Amino acid sequence: MADNGGQLLTIFFFFDILDFVLLLLFTTFIDCIVYGNPSFTLFLYRLSDLQTPYLSFPLQVDNRPKYYGREYHGMISREEADQLLSQAEGSYLIRESQRQPGTYTLALRFGNQTRNFRLYHDGKHFVGEKRFESIHDLVTDGLITLYIETKAAEYIAKMTINPIYEHVGYTTLNQEPTLKKLLPLSPEAPDGPAPAKDDNNAEERLTSLVRRATLRESDLAPKYEKVHNFKVHTFRGPHWCEYCANFMWGLIAQGVKCADCGLNVHKQCSKVVPNDCQPDLRHVKKVYSCDLTTLVKAHNTKRPMVVDMCIQELEARGLQSEGLYRISGFSELIEDVKLAFDRDGEKADISSNAYEDINIISGALKLYFRELPIPLITYDAHPRFIEAAKITDAEKRLESLHEALKLLPPAHCETLRYLMAHLKRVTQYEKENLMSSENLGIVFGPTLMRAPELDAMTALNDIRYQRLVVETLITHEDVLF
Ligand SMILES: [Zn+2]
Ligand SMILES: [Zn+2]
Repeated sequence: MADNGGQLLTIFFFFDILDFVLLLLFTTFIDCIVYGNPSFTLFLYRLSDLQTPYLSFPLQVDNRPKYYGREYHGMISREEADQLLSQAEGSYLIRESQRQPGTYTLALRFGNQTRNFRLYHDGKHFVGEKRFESIHDLVTDGLITLYIETKAAEYIAKMTINPIYEHVGYTTLNQEPTLKKLLPLSPEAPDGPAPAKDDNNAEERLTSLVRRATLRESDLAPKYEKVHNFKVHTFRGPHWCEYCANFMWGLIAQGVKCADCGLNVHKQCSKVVPNDCQPDLRHVKKVYSCDLTTLVKAHNTKRPMVVDMCIQELEARGLQSEGLYRISGFSELIEDVKLAFDRDGEKADISSNAYEDINIISGALKLYFRELPIPLITYDAHPRFIEAAKITDAEKRLESLHEALKLLPPAHCETLRYLMAHLKRVTQYEKENLMSSENLGIVFGPTLMRAPELDAMTALNDIRYQRLVVETLITHEDVLF
């Protein structure tokens, strides 16, 4: 073991000068945060580019898993690992557990103590939720995170208290201060002109924040609330949180990005961002199988345009057509209408010149509801609707349905109201089209109310209540909504 110690020191002195400078930055930037130096974001940015000064031990170890390199030390004890690593911050090794052979531990020197993490590999390396291609990346990311989380914990805790984020819809157009707040980094950065990628990034930040700042609720636009659709994201190049304006640290998975509006924030900040997602058509590319609220917010409409356009087309052509909604049109042509909506949105041509058969239009509307990721009567509200349908007393059933409707997101409720009013008009031509509210309940029940549970028996049992719900909604549309 004495030999290894010798090698350790030798390697330590072979750090190149750049790494050494970065190491110094690494340990001093926290002071900058603590004392509120405005240039701390620059230090943080440097951190992400730094190559962690790690030490490896060219040991010949038997039974080394092929996905580990020279950092693998075999079955050495915790104490031995501690001794080996005690000589340099940021050094690390992997050892096999003596208690549970076949499991591995990453021992990492940080803050003058050796920290042990259970290490996993499933094609990628991980100790927590982030997955890495190499152990080196995992350790670099880990060191950055450890530094920030331990030394700047207080700072992080305060990060979300004074957000720069302006709540869409309630903001007055106040661009000037927002813009000033955004630009502390590049031009006046203390170390001379910022690299080109910084400029791009600043521009990118500006664009997205100006976009937010200029988004105002118009009187015509629906006021539906929408939660952001955050997904863990790996940012290329330095990125700043659009909620708190602070740097997003780490090598990968530095934060989350909203798939609908493109908002980039820390995972921590994502929990406090208001439900004011304003989907952007650049992100919301499809019409079918897009979340209903997302679609109407992206297109700034009250209801999905598919619903309005199909219903208007059907009513214009006349609702007397026999078996309307029961008879299905050619599925290829229905698929064609779907493609037209996905491609052209409200400009889709669904006139009788394009689709002569009225059942293509009704089929396209039913398909729209079937393909919603969350059904029109949502999974959350589903049980309440079923419960209501089970009530035998007609008056009480209506009351209960009325309560259940309140559980629907506003855009869902509004669309359901519009559809039910239309279906009521369809039943007014029952003599010609032979479609009663009961028949329409059979057609639309499973389309509007997919059961959340997978249990086949329950699902089968629910079908008749689904029919009953839709039938009742049609019949009493005027009092229920
Ligand atoms: Zn969003
Ligand atoms: Zn943040």
